[in-house]
Amino acid sequence: MKKVFFCALLCALLTATLGNLCVASEKEAFMLNIQRMVEEQIERRGITDRGVLDAMRKVERHLFVPAYLRNAAYEDRPLPIGHGQTISQPYIVAYMTQAARVGSNDRILEIGTGSGYQAAVLAEIAKEIYTIEILQPLADSARLRLEEMGYKNVKVKLGDGYKGWREYAPFDAIIVTAAPSEIPEELMSQLKIGGRMVVPIGIFNQELYLITRAESGFTKEAILPVAFVPMIHPSEADKIKGK
Ligand code: SAH
Repeated sequence: MKKVFFCALLCALLTATLGNLCVASEKEAFMLNIQRMVEEQIERRGITDRGVLDAMRKVERHLFVPAYLRNAAYEDRPLPIGHGQTISQPYIVAYMTQAARVGSNDRILEIGTGSGYQAAVLAEIAKEIYTIEILQPLADSARLRLEEMGYKNVKVKLGDGYKGWREYAPFDAIIVTAAPSEIPEELMSQLKIGGRMVVPIGIFNQELYLITRAESGFTKEAILPVAFVPMIHPSEADKIKGK
Protein backbone atom coordinates (compact mmCIF):
# COMPACT_ATOMS: atom_id res chain seq x y z
CA MET A 1 0.00 0.00 0.00
CA LYS A 2 2.85 2.30 1.00
CA LYS A 3 4.56 1.51 -2.28
CA VAL A 4 1.49 2.49 -4.29
CA PHE A 5 1.23 5.75 -2.37
CA PHE A 6 4.91 6.48 -2.90
CA CYS A 7 4.62 5.77 -6.65
CA ALA A 8 1.57 8.01 -6.94
CA LEU A 9 3.41 10.79 -5.12
CA LEU A 10 6.45 10.39 -7.34
CA CYS A 11 4.27 10.49 -10.46
CA ALA A 12 2.50 13.64 -9.27
CA LEU A 13 5.81 15.34 -8.52
CA LEU A 14 7.26 14.32 -11.89
CA THR A 15 4.18 15.55 -13.76
CA ALA A 16 4.26 18.89 -11.96
CA THR A 17 7.98 19.34 -12.60
CA LEU A 18 7.67 18.34 -16.24
CA GLY A 19 4.68 20.68 -16.61
CA ASN A 20 6.66 23.57 -15.17
CA LEU A 21 9.63 22.69 -17.35
CA CYS A 22 7.39 22.74 -20.40
CA VAL A 23 6.00 26.17 -19.50
CA ALA A 24 9.52 27.45 -18.85
CA SER A 25 10.89 26.09 -22.10
CA GLU A 26 7.90 27.44 -24.05
CA LYS A 27 8.59 30.90 -22.60
CA GLU A 28 12.29 30.55 -23.49
CA ALA A 29 11.40 29.56 -27.04
CA PHE A 30 9.20 32.65 -27.40
CA MET A 31 11.99 34.83 -25.98
CA LEU A 32 14.40 33.47 -28.57
CA ASN A 33 11.84 34.15 -31.28
CA ILE A 34 11.47 37.76 -30.10
CA GLN A 35 15.23 38.34 -30.19
CA ARG A 36 15.43 36.85 -33.67
CA MET A 37 12.43 38.89 -34.89
CA VAL A 38 13.95 42.16 -33.68
CA GLU A 39 17.35 41.37 -35.16
CA GLU A 40 16.29 39.97 -38.52
CA GLN A 41 13.08 41.84 -39.33
CA ILE A 42 13.61 45.17 -37.61
CA GLU A 43 17.27 46.08 -36.97
CA ARG A 44 18.44 44.58 -40.25
CA ARG A 45 15.88 46.70 -42.12
CA GLY A 46 17.26 49.89 -40.66
CA ILE A 47 15.29 50.69 -37.48
CA THR A 48 17.85 52.29 -35.15
CA ASP A 49 15.85 54.03 -32.39
CA ARG A 50 17.01 52.37 -29.11
CA GLY A 51 13.69 53.01 -27.35
CA VAL A 52 11.74 51.37 -30.18
CA LEU A 53 14.06 48.34 -30.33
CA ASP A 54 13.90 47.84 -26.54
CA ALA A 55 10.09 48.11 -26.55
CA MET A 56 9.82 45.61 -29.42
CA ARG A 57 12.02 43.20 -27.39
CA LYS A 58 9.89 43.64 -24.30
CA VAL A 59 6.32 43.25 -25.58
CA GLU A 60 5.37 39.61 -26.13
CA ARG A 61 3.45 39.57 -29.40
CA HIS A 62 2.27 35.98 -28.85
CA LEU A 63 0.06 37.25 -26.01
CA PHE A 64 -1.83 39.53 -28.45
CA VAL A 65 -2.82 36.95 -31.07
CA PRO A 66 -5.49 34.21 -30.91
CA ALA A 67 -4.18 31.04 -29.19
CA TYR A 68 -4.18 29.04 -32.43
CA LEU A 69 -1.75 31.54 -33.99
CA ARG A 70 0.74 31.82 -31.10
CA ASN A 71 3.43 29.88 -32.89
CA ALA A 72 3.20 32.28 -35.84
CA ALA A 73 3.37 35.39 -33.63
CA TYR A 74 6.97 36.29 -34.51
CA GLU A 75 6.66 35.76 -38.24
CA ASP A 76 7.20 38.67 -40.62
CA ARG A 77 3.51 39.36 -41.35
CA PRO A 78 0.22 40.69 -40.04
CA LEU A 79 -2.09 38.08 -38.42
CA PRO A 80 -5.87 37.88 -38.10
CA ILE A 81 -7.35 38.92 -34.72
CA GLY A 82 -11.02 38.31 -35.55
CA HIS A 83 -13.84 40.51 -36.91
CA GLY A 84 -11.94 40.87 -40.20
CA GLN A 85 -9.13 42.83 -38.53
CA THR A 86 -5.38 42.20 -38.21
CA ILE A 87 -2.47 42.86 -35.87
CA SER A 88 0.16 44.72 -37.93
CA GLN A 89 3.44 43.18 -39.11
CA PRO A 90 6.11 43.76 -36.38
CA TYR A 91 8.34 45.78 -38.75
CA ILE A 92 5.48 48.18 -39.52
CA VAL A 93 4.77 48.69 -35.80
CA ALA A 94 8.46 49.52 -35.24
CA TYR A 95 8.63 51.71 -38.37
CA MET A 96 5.57 53.78 -37.42
CA THR A 97 6.76 54.20 -33.84
CA GLN A 98 10.18 55.39 -34.99
CA ALA A 99 8.66 57.70 -37.63
CA ALA A 100 6.42 59.33 -34.99
CA ARG A 101 9.57 60.11 -32.91
CA VAL A 102 7.86 59.00 -29.71
CA GLY A 103 9.54 60.47 -26.61
CA SER A 104 9.38 59.43 -22.96
CA ASN A 105 7.31 62.46 -21.91
CA ASP A 106 4.88 62.24 -24.80
CA ARG A 107 1.14 61.89 -24.83
CA ILE A 108 0.12 59.69 -27.75
CA LEU A 109 -3.17 59.01 -29.53
CA GLU A 110 -3.56 55.74 -31.40
CA ILE A 111 -6.50 55.08 -33.73
CA GLY A 112 -7.37 51.39 -34.15
CA THR A 113 -6.54 49.57 -30.88
CA GLY A 114 -7.13 46.12 -32.43
CA SER A 115 -5.26 43.63 -30.22
CA GLY A 116 -3.57 46.37 -28.18
CA TYR A 117 -0.07 45.39 -29.37
CA GLN A 118 0.91 48.77 -30.87
CA ALA A 119 -0.51 50.47 -27.75
CA ALA A 120 1.68 48.26 -25.52
CA VAL A 121 4.78 49.09 -27.59
CA LEU A 122 3.94 52.80 -27.26
CA ALA A 123 3.27 52.40 -23.52
CA GLU A 124 6.81 51.04 -23.02
CA ILE A 125 8.20 54.30 -24.43
CA ALA A 126 5.81 57.19 -23.80
CA LYS A 127 4.06 58.67 -20.78
CA GLU A 128 0.37 58.43 -21.70
CA ILE A 129 -1.37 56.45 -24.44
CA TYR A 130 -4.94 57.05 -25.57
CA THR A 131 -6.26 54.49 -28.00
CA ILE A 132 -9.63 54.29 -29.77
CA GLU A 133 -11.27 51.18 -31.24
CA ILE A 134 -14.56 51.18 -33.14
CA LEU A 135 -15.44 47.47 -32.65
CA GLN A 136 -16.67 46.67 -29.16
CA PRO A 137 -15.36 43.10 -28.77
CA LEU A 138 -11.86 44.22 -29.78
CA ALA A 139 -11.97 47.30 -27.51
CA ASP A 140 -13.11 45.15 -24.56
CA SER A 141 -10.55 42.39 -25.02
CA ALA A 142 -7.65 44.81 -25.62
CA ARG A 143 -8.59 46.84 -22.52
CA LEU A 144 -8.67 43.69 -20.38
CA ARG A 145 -5.42 42.36 -21.85
CA LEU A 146 -3.54 45.63 -21.28
CA GLU A 147 -4.91 45.90 -17.73
CA GLU A 148 -3.88 42.34 -16.92
CA MET A 149 -0.41 43.05 -18.26
CA GLY A 150 -0.15 45.94 -15.83
CA TYR A 151 -0.13 48.89 -18.27
CA LYS A 152 -1.39 51.78 -16.16
CA ASN A 153 -0.61 54.48 -18.74
CA VAL A 154 -3.03 53.27 -21.47
CA LYS A 155 -6.66 54.33 -21.80
CA VAL A 156 -8.82 52.40 -24.29
CA LYS A 157 -12.00 54.01 -25.63
CA LEU A 158 -14.76 52.43 -27.70
CA GLY A 159 -15.58 55.02 -30.35
CA ASP A 160 -15.01 56.54 -33.76
CA GLY A 161 -11.37 57.42 -34.33
CA TYR A 162 -12.27 60.04 -36.99
CA LYS A 163 -13.34 62.22 -34.03
CA GLY A 164 -10.08 61.80 -32.12
CA TRP A 165 -10.16 62.31 -28.34
CA ARG A 166 -10.70 66.04 -27.68
CA GLU A 167 -10.69 65.65 -23.91
CA TYR A 168 -6.98 64.75 -23.92
CA ALA A 169 -5.84 66.71 -26.99
CA PRO A 170 -3.46 68.11 -28.12
CA PHE A 171 -1.15 65.14 -28.65
CA ASP A 172 2.60 64.95 -29.26
CA ALA A 173 1.99 62.18 -31.78
CA ILE A 174 -0.92 60.38 -33.41
CA ILE A 175 -0.52 56.90 -34.90
CA VAL A 176 -3.35 55.69 -37.12
CA THR A 177 -3.37 51.92 -37.73
CA ALA A 178 -6.31 51.70 -40.17
CA ALA A 179 -6.36 53.45 -43.55
CA PRO A 180 -8.71 56.37 -44.29
CA SER A 181 -9.01 57.54 -47.91
CA GLU A 182 -7.95 61.08 -46.95
CA ILE A 183 -6.08 62.63 -44.05
CA PRO A 184 -8.69 63.19 -41.29
CA GLU A 185 -8.86 66.97 -40.62
CA GLU A 186 -10.09 66.54 -37.06
CA LEU A 187 -7.04 64.45 -36.14
CA MET A 188 -4.71 67.08 -37.62
CA SER A 189 -6.35 69.68 -35.38
CA GLN A 190 -5.60 67.53 -32.30
CA LEU A 191 -1.81 67.63 -32.89
CA LYS A 192 0.43 69.93 -30.86
CA ILE A 193 2.65 72.42 -32.69
CA GLY A 194 5.66 70.25 -33.53
CA GLY A 195 3.48 67.12 -33.21
CA ARG A 196 3.72 64.23 -35.66
CA MET A 197 1.02 62.05 -37.20
CA VAL A 198 1.76 58.76 -38.96
CA VAL A 199 -1.18 57.58 -41.05
CA PRO A 200 -1.73 55.17 -43.98
CA ILE A 201 -3.77 56.87 -46.71
CA GLY A 202 -5.61 55.27 -49.62
CA ILE A 203 -7.89 52.45 -50.64
CA PHE A 204 -5.95 50.21 -53.02
CA ASN A 205 -2.51 51.79 -53.24
CA GLN A 206 -1.82 53.02 -49.76
CA GLU A 207 1.07 55.20 -48.67
CA LEU A 208 2.16 55.86 -45.12
CA TYR A 209 2.29 59.63 -44.51
CA LEU A 210 4.25 61.53 -41.91
CA ILE A 211 2.48 64.80 -41.14
CA THR A 212 4.13 67.38 -38.92
CA ARG A 213 2.39 70.38 -37.47
CA ALA A 214 4.48 73.55 -37.85
CA GLU A 215 3.84 76.98 -36.28
CA SER A 216 1.68 77.74 -39.27
CA GLY A 217 0.35 74.83 -41.28
CA PHE A 218 1.48 71.23 -41.80
CA THR A 219 4.20 69.42 -43.74
CA LYS A 220 3.24 66.12 -45.42
CA GLU A 221 5.58 63.44 -46.64
CA ALA A 222 4.86 59.97 -48.11
CA ILE A 223 7.34 57.63 -46.43
CA LEU A 224 6.41 53.99 -47.24
CA PRO A 225 3.96 51.98 -49.37
CA VAL A 226 1.78 49.90 -47.02
CA ALA A 227 -1.37 47.72 -46.79
CA PHE A 228 -3.71 48.36 -43.86
CA VAL A 229 -7.33 47.42 -43.19
CA PRO A 230 -9.65 50.36 -44.02
CA MET A 231 -10.58 52.94 -41.41
CA ILE A 232 -14.35 52.62 -41.20
CA HIS A 233 -17.30 54.74 -40.09
CA PRO A 234 -19.79 53.81 -37.35
CA SER A 235 -22.45 52.65 -39.89
CA GLU A 236 -19.96 50.16 -41.38
CA ALA A 237 -18.92 49.04 -37.90
CA ASP A 238 -22.58 48.22 -37.17
CA LYS A 239 -22.65 45.96 -40.24
CA ILE A 240 -19.50 44.11 -39.05
CA LYS A 241 -21.10 43.66 -35.60
CA GLY A 242 -24.29 42.40 -37.22
CA LYS A 243 -22.44 39.64 -39.14
N1 SAH B 1 -3.05 48.63 -33.85
C1 SAH B 1 -3.65 47.30 -33.89
C2 SAH B 1 -3.93 46.84 -35.30
C3 SAH B 1 -5.09 47.49 -35.80
S1 SAH B 1 -5.98 46.87 -37.16
C4 SAH B 1 -2.81 46.28 -33.18
O1 SAH B 1 -1.71 46.61 -32.73
O2 SAH B 1 -3.29 45.16 -33.04
C5 SAH B 1 -7.01 48.30 -37.36
C6 SAH B 1 -8.04 48.48 -36.26
O3 SAH B 1 -8.67 49.73 -36.53
C7 SAH B 1 -9.14 47.45 -36.27
O4 SAH B 1 -9.25 46.87 -34.99
C8 SAH B 1 -10.40 48.24 -36.63
O5 SAH B 1 -11.56 47.76 -35.99
C9 SAH B 1 -10.02 49.63 -36.15
N2 SAH B 1 -10.75 50.73 -36.79
C10 SAH B 1 -11.18 50.85 -38.06
N3 SAH B 1 -11.82 52.03 -38.25
C11 SAH B 1 -11.78 52.68 -37.06
C12 SAH B 1 -12.28 53.93 -36.59
N4 SAH B 1 -12.97 54.76 -37.37
N5 SAH B 1 -12.05 54.26 -35.31
C13 SAH B 1 -11.38 53.43 -34.47
N6 SAH B 1 -10.90 52.23 -34.84
C14 SAH B 1 -11.09 51.85 -36.12
